[in-house]
Amino acid sequence: MNANDNVAIVANDFGLPAGAAVPGGPTVRERVPQGHKVALMDIAKGAPVRRYDVVIGYAAEDLPAGSWVNEQRLDMPAPPSLDGLPLATRKSSLGGALDGYTFEGFRNDDGTVGTRNLLAITTTVQCVSGVVEHAVKRIRDELLPRYSNVDDVVALEHIYGCGVAIDAPDAEIPIRTLRNISLNPNFGGTTMVVSLGCEKLQPERLLPKGVYPSRAATPGGRDYDLVTLQDNSHVGFEAMISSIMRTAEQHLVRLDKRRRETCPACDLVVGMQCGGSDAFSGVTANPALGFAADLLVRAGGTVMFSENTEVRDGIAQLTARAANEDVARELIAELGWYDDYLERGRVDRSANTTPGNKKGGLSNIVEKAMGSIVKSGSAPISGVVRPGERAKAKGLLYAATPASDFVCGTLQLAAGMTLHIFTTGRGTPYGLAAVPVIKVATRSELARRWHDLMDVDTGGIASGEATIEETGWQLFRTMLEVASGRQTWTEKWRLHNSLALFNPAPIT
Ligand code: CA
Repeated sequence: MNANDNVAIVANDFGLPAGAAVPGGPTVRERVPQGHKVALMDIAKGAPVRRYDVVIGYAAEDLPAGSWVNEQRLDMPAPPSLDGLPLATRKSSLGGALDGYTFEGFRNDDGTVGTRNLLAITTTVQCVSGVVEHAVKRIRDELLPRYSNVDDVVALEHIYGCGVAIDAPDAEIPIRTLRNISLNPNFGGTTMVVSLGCEKLQPERLLPKGVYPSRAATPGGRDYDLVTLQDNSHVGFEAMISSIMRTAEQHLVRLDKRRRETCPACDLVVGMQCGGSDAFSGVTANPALGFAADLLVRAGGTVMFSENTEVRDGIAQLTARAANEDVARELIAELGWYDDYLERGRVDRSANTTPGNKKGGLSNIVEKAMGSIVKSGSAPISGVVRPGERAKAKGLLYAATPASDFVCGTLQLAAGMTLHIFTTGRGTPYGLAAVPVIKVATRSELARRWHDLMDVDTGGIASGEATIEETGWQLFRTMLEVASGRQTWTEKWRLHNSLALFNPAPIT
């Protein structure tokens, strides 16, 4: 990856056998699986092991040239200090503005643009989930076919709302997450809420007055329509279902009138994530995505990267790239808060890596982080989005979220993402109901095996058949096409992971 590295990774499908010669390098001493590291020179015990020109660890034993360098043979470095970091020191090398790129989106009254036209049903508490699921099935079967401009109906179900310490300071995170998800541009600026009645998270706490500044209040004095299951008018289960369906139909009538219109690429809000990563994530998919992210920023759009534990070891790169010192300080504050959060649970950033990551060649969180962070490209970081908050700035944003795929995706939805792009090396069928998810394979072998789950194959970068730039342009164009309505594989198969709210506050 860099001329200063003393390891390289095996790109060949199924790895290399002992005795194989590395071009311009040593003979492989033992079988090395695909994606795993080979020592390019003798590395003495205790000496640094460099990949991406970064020390990803120290040799735990003597590693003669040609050795397999895996997690057992590496000691992890300490995390970089959050003091004395460079603040907004790097000059941007981003190319000039890109004009003329557009997509076909659904424009909302507040100026935001959706990529899908969805009826969302917000829930205040998990108690209502079973009833809402039943109603959604009937809405889909009986009502939706009559409103052909509406793409789908989505229940915003979660496990929050009651049995929680709702006045704990950190409870603001799950509450504002849920609030901002119900305001996601893909829901057309119209909200219906199903509440039980007795729960701690009362509807007016979830959606306080004025949360929709541009909207006229309903006859009930609220900015949204509300169905309360414990309402006296509901005599039996069927009455609850008809109430939900009646309200849903009013919203479907409104949503059905919406049409796609040509919108500039600057109206797109993309959330980037990786999951089931392998050693190729940082070689193929993430560098290409970083290139695409730069294109989107140059076109005036908004693109978020996230995953606290996967940027923690690269914090100095990020603070240097901040657009100004305030943004750099916000980055430090968010990652410092997250360090404390992990410490409360008596773990650190190393709790991130999975058995699959290691099998895929990622020895530790430092190596994984360096591969994850490259999807942020090279644009200056113009803002930080705290967990559950809505993005206000445009350009490249750091949305401070855990790396957990579901929690990160949920928080990026709250931040206002209308399109998700997700890179994977090991493979995951991850999908979301509220936004299209473009799945990007880091290896052609995975793309071939999961031919009806992966939307883009970036493996050609490792085999020399494609460049990062070509693949980056392909990802950028794919984003505009999917934003305009082209279906992704997860949409075709309706693969929808549940929302997973980030709740650092106590449960009661
Ligand atoms: Ca992730």
